[in-house]
Amino acid sequence: MKRAAVPGEIPRRACLFTGFQALCAATLLMFSWNGVAVAKEPAFKVLAFYSTDVEPDHVHAAKDALAFFQDLAAKNNFVFDATTDWGKLSESDLKPYRLILWLNNFPQTPEQRAAFEKYMEHGGGWLGLHVAGYNDKTTNWPWFVDFLGGAVFYTNNWPPLPAKLAVDDRTHPVTRQLPATYLAPANEWYLWKPSPRLNRNVQVLVTLDPSNYPIGVKDVITGGDLPVVWTNTRYRMIYMNMGHGEKIYSDATQNELFKNAILWLGNQK
Ligand code: ZN
Repeated sequence: MKRAAVPGEIPRRACLFTGFQALCAATLLMFSWNGVAVAKEPAFKVLAFYSTDVEPDHVHAAKDALAFFQDLAAKNNFVFDATTDWGKLSESDLKPYRLILWLNNFPQTPEQRAAFEKYMEHGGGWLGLHVAGYNDKTTNWPWFVDFLGGAVFYTNNWPPLPAKLAVDDRTHPVTRQLPATYLAPANEWYLWKPSPRLNRNVQVLVTLDPSNYPIGVKDVITGGDLPVVWTNTRYRMIYMNMGHGEKIYSDATQNELFKNAILWLGNQK
């Protein structure tokens, strides 16, 4: 949303005050030359959906996500817009966007869900964080369960805790620069049954390392396959389980993962 300043403007104003016109003209030329790169068309546009009337820890994570992705957009030449209006999940509103994000919620109405299905079935991009992927028998959205690769929420640890994560595939563009394992900041980790790994269209990219078990105090996960980041290769999509509380964007390795995911999804033709 924040637009880069036009680099030519500042030197031009400085010229009026200093009077070193030859020097200023040279500076202006230099900035204009740089300006060619800065002013080029954004590579793609992202629209992030979020809610402010959900669990406070999820609101907090979404606010941190907005700051993180806005900064990422400014540095990586894409446009980042955000809205709390889930009614913008409509064909006309989604049209300009190459990629949409669900930061801390998911659509509730049949119209919003239908627009999302159409968007994804026609080449749209999606990055869902944490509770964006939540579904159980009250959610009543079979298409979405299939879209996630069959994953159904089963349980979670409590309280949120840091965890060692293992990178499954270090050749994928999203995880290529990552170490084999890293310590992820505190999160509420979701266990899915069935695990999306059982779906042959799913590629799991990051998994909770089994050495974390048992994980939790009040609610303890004692074992099981717990994929954390995956893609359903039938769509241009990534689900990432991170997104609970105020620590999510505090780790450089994990931030690299977010960055890679956005750029991979956004830049695919
Ligand atoms: Zn949560």
